[in-house]
This record gives sequence, structure tokens and C-alpha cells, in this order.
Amino acid sequence: MDQYAVFGNPIKHSKSPFIHTLFANQTQQQMTYGIVEAPVDGFTASVQAFFNSDAKGCNITAPFKEEAFQFAQSLTDRARLAGAVNTLKKTDDGLIIGDNTDGAGLVLDLKNNHVDLTGARILLLGAGGAARGVCGSLLAESPAQLTIANRTFEKAETLVSIFKELGNINASEFNDLSGPFDLIINSTSAGLHGSLPAISSSLITPETAIYDMTYNAQVTAFNAWAKDNGARLTIDGLGMLVGQAAESFAIWRGVKPGAKQVLNELRHNLAG
Ligand code: NDP
Repeated sequence: MDQYAVFGNPIKHSKSPFIHTLFANQTQQQMTYGIVEAPVDGFTASVQAFFNSDAKGCNITAPFKEEAFQFAQSLTDRARLAGAVNTLKKTDDGLIIGDNTDGAGLVLDLKNNHVDLTGARILLLGAGGAARGVCGSLLAESPAQLTIANRTFEKAETLVSIFKELGNINASEFNDLSGPFDLIINSTSAGLHGSLPAISSSLITPETAIYDMTYNAQVTAFNAWAKDNGARLTIDGLGMLVGQAAESFAIWRGVKPGAKQVLNELRHNLAG
């Protein structure tokens, strides 16, 4: 049996084993997928021991994505741009390749929800690791404009400087934003602390689609607020979670699983 796992801390509530087990059943792959809670100061030793035991690959989540970037012996272009790695794969030659599938997972989920990105005016709220992980994939879809707004403006400017060669990207303060936007993506962690990014509700029009990278069993706070203010469509981040997993699975196994069916099962499982 080929071995895979997800590394993080804390990690015991991870949905990744559930998702990858369904993918493996769906595509008839012989593999196991476990959980490794590496010590906060012990990721490198832990992942090295995992690969020494002949494992084939792993996912990496908070707080280890930057350390995984350092650990990888070779990086894909999108991982280099993201500055973080969420997928490691050991090749037949023993080389450990680092990739980042978060952006591809987001775009896959947006497309599955029929959100058109080409020519769209996109507002991305937040400039942390999740935002950096998706900018390249969003710009690859040729939006008319990608505006990054962050509470700490300088971090939005940093993202613009990293991605400016790839398309029309600009930075804004929350207070200076003016729409209209076809799509607003919330990549802030405000919802984890029970708050909302401080943007004006006037940015939401009946044509605006909303994507909140957060997810939980209920409607997220940001999506509830957006719906109350007239958004045409609200989507939470569960599909991105499944989408990034599907991309990782394809990298490891060479076969692309169907994300939609697994998303339905995961949502059912989350609702308990
Ligand atoms: P980071 O800690 O790297 O970044 C957090 C971001 O949120 C920063 O831009 C920060 O702004 C902003 N922020 C935090 N609190 C507030 C607030 N009260 N008001 C406005 N902005 C705020 O986290 P990540 O980027 O890694 O993750 C962000 C979110 O995305 C998390 O909720 C995470 O769970 C989710 N996520 C979902 C994924 C999925 O598959 N669905 C994948 C990856 C992440 P500042 O710079 O000013 O501090």
C-alpha cells in the first residue's frame, strides 16, 4: 500500500483523510492516507522520517507550509510564487517535489459553481498565506482586474509586487475600495475570530458573487452578511478544500478524482 498523510498542528479535526479515502475508493487506488501532528518546532524531522519510511507524498497545512517550501528539493512555479507548499511528492528517483494546489482548488470550485473569471473584476480581501496561494491561479484566468485589499495595506502591496507580471493587479485600503466587483473573495481569517473584514456593504450588488474561504457546518458569517446585502451567490471554502485535495491526488496518482461527489459527501458529514 502506498502511504500518504497530512501534516499540521493542530490536525486531528482534518477532513483530508476523509476526502482522500473517498478519492481512492472512487478511482480504485491502493493507498492509505493518515494524519501526522508534527511538533510545532519539529516539522522537518517529522516529514523526513515519513519519507525515510518510503511514503510517497503528503499534504501540509498550518503552520508548516513555509517550512515545507524550504524542505522541498525542487519546486513548481506556482509553489515558488505562493512562497508555500501544501503538497510534497517523492518521485521514483527519490526527489521530493513541492507544489501548491490551493489556487487550482479555488479556481476549480469557482468553475464548478459557474463563476466566470475571464474578464471579471475580482476583489480579494486579505493578503496572508491563503491570498498569496491563489493570486497566480486567479490571474491565469485573465480577469479584467484583481484588487487586493488588506487591513495591513503594505502586505497587499507586497502581493502586487510579487504578481504584477502576471496580469492586472492592484492594492487598496479597505476604505478606498470602489466597485463594482463581479466576485469578492474573502481570504481573511476574520471569521475565525467572529468578525468581518471592515468593508462597505455598498460593494455588493445583485451581480456580485461571494466566495468565503472559511467553512463550517453553518453558513459563514461573511456569507450571511453578503447575502443580507444582496449578493447573487455565496459559496464557502469547503469546495476549495476538496479542490486542492483533488489536485494533490492527481499529482500523486496521475488520475483526477471527481470533486463534486466528494464535496456532497463531505458536506453531509460536516452537518453531522
Ligand atoms: P494568515 O494568518 O496568513 O492571514 C490572515 C489574513 O486575514 C491577513 O490578511 C489578515 O490581515 C487578515 N485578517 C485577520 N483578521 C482580520 C480582521 N479582523 N479583519 C480584517 N482582516 C483580518 O491566514 P491564511 O491566509 O493562511 O488563512 C486565511 C483564511 O483562509 C483562514 O480562515 C483559513 O482557514 C482559510 N483557508 C481556507 C482554505 C480552504 O481550502 N478553504 C485554504 C487556506 C486557507 P493582516 O495582514 O492585517 O493581519
